[in-house]
Formats: sequence, structure tokens, C-alpha cells
Amino acid sequence: MNLYSGVGSIKGVGPKTLEELNKCGIFTLLDLLLYFPRDYKKISICNEIGEIKNKQEVILQGKVVNIGKDIRTKRGKVLSQVKFINKGTYFKCKWFNQPYIKNYFKINNEYTLKGKIDYFNGERMLINPKIIKNTDFISENSKEKVMPVYPLRGKIKTTTLMKLINEVLNSIKIEENLPTRIVKQNKFCSLDMAIRNIHNPLNIEMLYNAKRRLKYQELFTYSLKILMLKKYKEANNKGISFNISKELNELKSRLPYCLTNAQNKVIREILIDQKKPVAMNRLVQGDVGSGKTIVGIIALFNVVKNGYQAAFMVPTEILAKQHYNEVYNILKHFDLNIKLLSGSTSLKEKEKIKIALEKGEIDIIIGTHALIEDNVKFKKLGFIITDEQHRFGVMQRNKLFNKGENVDVLVMTATPIPRTLSLYLYGDLNVSVIDELPPGRKKVNTYYINKKEENRVYNFALKQIDEGRQVYIVCPLVEENTDLQLSSVENLYEKLKSKYFSNVNIAILHGKMNNKDKNEIMEKFKNNHIKVLISTTVIEVGINVPNATLIIIENAERFGLAQLHQLRGRVGRGSEKSYCVLIAEVKNEITKKRMKTMVNSNDGFYIAEQDLKIRGSGEIFGVRQHGEEGLILCDLIEDINILKQCSIDADELLKSDCVEDKEIIKYIMKKLDNTTKYICFN
Ligand code: ADP
Ligand code: MG
Repeated sequence: MNLYSGVGSIKGVGPKTLEELNKCGIFTLLDLLLYFPRDYKKISICNEIGEIKNKQEVILQGKVVNIGKDIRTKRGKVLSQVKFINKGTYFKCKWFNQPYIKNYFKINNEYTLKGKIDYFNGERMLINPKIIKNTDFISENSKEKVMPVYPLRGKIKTTTLMKLINEVLNSIKIEENLPTRIVKQNKFCSLDMAIRNIHNPLNIEMLYNAKRRLKYQELFTYSLKILMLKKYKEANNKGISFNISKELNELKSRLPYCLTNAQNKVIREILIDQKKPVAMNRLVQGDVGSGKTIVGIIALFNVVKNGYQAAFMVPTEILAKQHYNEVYNILKHFDLNIKLLSGSTSLKEKEKIKIALEKGEIDIIIGTHALIEDNVKFKKLGFIITDEQHRFGVMQRNKLFNKGENVDVLVMTATPIPRTLSLYLYGDLNVSVIDELPPGRKKVNTYYINKKEENRVYNFALKQIDEGRQVYIVCPLVEENTDLQLSSVENLYEKLKSKYFSNVNIAILHGKMNNKDKNEIMEKFKNNHIKVLISTTVIEVGINVPNATLIIIENAERFGLAQLHQLRGRVGRGSEKSYCVLIAEVKNEITKKRMKTMVNSNDGFYIAEQDLKIRGSGEIFGVRQHGEEGLILCDLIEDINILKQCSIDADELLKSDCVEDKEIIKYIMKKLDNTTKYICFN
């Protein structure tokens, strides 16, 4: 069985199931095995039915005494009944509308069933119980069964997933791929055992062992990948030496403001990198509003003036458009060919742009991920910037380097990552920090209030609008399910429109809208035509509308602090006093502390550290976006200690001369090429 074949190859998977599996991101058998439960529940295994409480969910054995005739109920359902005996106590199982099920049973045979016990008219019964066919997990002393709870999307059912996963597991054996000494030292179970138990835990201890092994597995491969990247870059340390253009002074003098000391310091660091005949790998960190864009633009300009092409890559369409406008405005006196390539560019225009890029006629190209697609070719690419880099994983970073020969790479992020952490996250990069905001920035006044008081906030919003200002309203965070996301924005829109903003031009913005509509709305908001923008977190990064002075965040307790800080960074970008109001349901001390942290501080790094302290594990990146970094089990922040150990172990492995170790590296790297996840095997 080949783990890279499609899930459609499993017998019983028809086109409908296939479609549902695809919706969950499951395409290959490997994807299926890596679709891990999001949680587990314990179900008691009961020896004696007499001991069970009403409504308790149990796994139970019984011998069939009688198979009844089907009955039609008053409501028109077909009811099938089978009577069992367990240690002298009788119980009945009832199934509705599953007449075929009784054919499974034979009188006097023993079966294992799972369901909730009901006492009814003095009788014990199980309604619609499941039949458990594989009973290996039941032994003399096992008291409970740990059942997986899978993240479900679309119409897929847990039982379907379990059945398919077991089918695959029954016909393969997963080979070990960690060095024997690491497995021994850490007393890890085998990889095969770990994968089996993560889906189908024999008991709690085995589940714990499986998780421990797989977390290590994941971060070990992750570390290996980062270190290999670093090593590769060091070994191939040829790069282009860019001269420092004389026109930089003219550019600086044309800016509508003076650069801050911090900006100048970072620009110097970048120019030194550019001058060196070594490829640049630099990360620029700077809090929201610290002015990273202009630093990037100056770096782009210098490269272009050396006769090379440069690309500016961003995570969202909206941001691409905004950056394009800014780059265009700042560089318009310099006779450069600057183009925007995004999802909303027409096909015809796209073709034109691609041809021009390949011919070398375009100097600067700005766009989203579309820029790193294989069919985009450059004539003489010298430099790539990615803005808001936390949206791009290590894999994508890797892909960038292969676009040109020894190109310089600069990544920019506002996500405050404590230094110790960034070493492991971005071990392949040098770091510059813009640790100063442009002068005159006022602290954004932040408040948190209860839902009951929302009246006051929305009236305040009306006042701001009267004064000519604009307002963002951010919708509560809902799970990745995009349909739900849509309804939450739309509901809020309806409510606010009728209750507060009947005479105000308000609009909604969310990830499901097409790019053209998104751009149009954003454009109208920029031009102050739309006064209130109700949106999901699509506005989270980079958006710059200085006239917006109020941001209201609904259900703020559901966001990570760093994310709240990012969102708050959308206001306070102009000369007017700005406000951020967090509407939160403060149910416990932790939420209260978190809200207070937001009220008291405007410093992204401080906030990130507090978040870590308050929660123990910080959701620095907000709600987990599964697969973003290719990580399934680990949270880079929460599992930082494992990451540190893995980093050390991976480094040792890379330096080792032992044949087994070399084989292992080769093996893992080869497998890694076939998947976007860090748990990889045959
Ligand atoms: P971020 O670091 O969040 O990406 P931006 O680059 O979007 O920040 O800059 C935020 C705002 O600050 C923009 O309107 C930009 O024009 C302005 N800005 C940048 N640098 C300076 C400066 N040195 N002085 C005044 N305003 C600046
Ligand atoms: Mg920015």
C-alpha cells in the first residue's frame, strides 16, 4: 500500500465521501493518517451492568437472549429490539430505523456494545448503541476506553474516519525513522505504535506516550529542516553584491517625514547585507505602526537601481493593493516599472505581467503567494521581501530562495516573538529590530467593557463619525468554518445597521468575498466613503487607514493578546486621538488579567510576554491555524522546551559521521519533499 495514493483508493470510498474527505484537507492515505483527533473522551468499560448509573456512556458486553420483531412506532419509525444478558442482568438494545442491524446478531453469542444507559419502566436499555467489533482493548483490568474526537468539517462522520483510518493501519507497518539512540534515550515507543495509538489509544498511558513521541517527531524534523536550510545557505554563501545607490539620498529627501533612528539603523543593516557578496537572510521585527513598509521600499529601490528585479510579497490581497499604492507613490519620480500581481488581476493582464517579468521589463512586482507559483519566472531577480512573514512557513521561505540565483531575502513581521524563541523559529535568519515608533504617535486609549454596555460604545462610534472619523468593528472569532464566519459578520451587520447606523454608510468585509469586491470595499473605506467597516480578522495585518480612529472588537476574550494588539494597530496611525474598545465576556480572572494587559500596555513585546505568563502557553499567533507551519500536534510556543531539545539533537545528528545517521537524514529529507507536514514516514 502506498501512502501517497489517493484516499479514493480505499474500498468503500465513493465520490461523495471523497469530496467530504477533501474538504478536511485529506487527499492521500498519509493525509488521512495525519488527520489527528483534536481531543479524546473516556468511556467506562463496565463489567457488571448492575453498577451503571442512568445516562452514563459505557462499553458493555452481553449475550443475546432474544431478537424481537420490528415494530412501527406511532411516529412512523421502525424499531428493532434485541435482548441481552450480562452477569445475570437483562438489558435491551433498541435501534430506530436500522432494521438491518438485527441480522448481525445470533442467539447465545457475545457482543460488545457502546452507548448510553437508560432506565425506563424499571428496564435497562441502550438506545441506538454501536457495535464494537475490535475488542482487543478490553482486558481483565481495563476500566475505560479512550475514544478519539476528530475535528469535523462538512458532512464527514467520526465513525467513517475511524473506519478508514483503521483500514489503512491494518494493511501497513510504519518504519522507524529516528536514530535508535534517541528512541532509547527518551524511552519513546515506536513510530508505528505512536500513529496507531494517537488514533486508537489502547489506554491513557499509551496515548500519552504516542503524543510525546509524535511531538518530538514533529519538532525534530522541523529543526532538522531549519538547520539544513541554514547549512545550505552557509555552504552556498554566494550572493549578489549590490552597490549603495547615490539616488538613495534623493529618495530620502522626498519622503514626507524624517525616518526614525530605529528605521535608519535597520536600513543600514540591510544595506550592509546587500553590499556583501553573500545572500541576505534577514528578519525585520517591528511593532505595529513602527514603519516597516518604508524600510522595505528603500531596500527594494537600492536593488532595482543596481539593475536587478525585486519582489514584494504579502499575505493578503488587500495588503498587496495597499503596498502597491504606497510603493508607487513613493517611487513615482524615479521612472520605474512597478506592477501588482494578485488574484484580482485579469487573466490577460496576468499573462502580460508574466511575460514582462520574464523579459526583465518589470522592476518591482508586488503580490500575494501567487508570486511564488512555479510559472512565474524572472529574468534577473535579486531581492525578495515578504511582509507579515508569520503567515509564511519555513517551507515557503525555502521556495523563495529557489526563485532566483542567490537572491537576497528580507522578511518583515509585527508578530512580537521573544528573542529566545525567534532563535528556534527563525534560526536560519539574522534579526533586525525597529524598536521605536515614529514621533507624535499617541497611545491608543484602550478600554474593556461588558456586552451589556455595548450601547455606549456604539453611541461613541456615532460621535466619532460625526467628527469625520471612521470605525472598524471586528467580528467574534469563529472556528475555521468559513460559512459560520460569514453568518457572524452578516448578523452583526444587520443588527448594527438597524439599531445604530441606519443613516451611516457601513459595509462588511470578510475572507469569503471575491478579491474584486474586497478591493472595492477597501478602496471606499480608504476614501472615507464608507464610515464603518465590519469585518473578520482579514484586516488584521498591515492595513493602513489613518483616518480610522476607533476599533471595536467583539468577543475580545476569544482572541490571543498578540492578535488583539495587531488589530488595535489598525488605529492610531494618524494625528487624531484613537481608541480601542474590547467587548469581552469576562468570566474569570485570567480573561480579566488579559484584558487589563491590553488596557495598560501598547508594547507588543511586553504583551506577548505577558500572554505567555498569564496562560502558561500563549496563543501568540491567535487561534491555531492548522497546518500553517505544517505542524499538526505542536504549538511552537507551548512546546518550546521540546523544540529546544530537538534543535540540539538535530544539530548533533547533522554533525554525526555515523552511517545510520546519514541514512536517516537522507530518508527524512526525501519524505519531507512529498508532504507539507513535519511528521513524515514511508
Ligand atoms: P508597519 O510597521 O505596521 O507596517 P507602516 O509601514 O504601515 O507600519 O507605517 C505606519 C504609518 O506610519 C504609515 O502611515 C507610514 O507612512 C507612517 N510612517 C512610517 N515611518 C514614519 C516616520 N519615520 N515618521 C512618520 N510617519 C511614518
Ligand atoms: Mg506593515
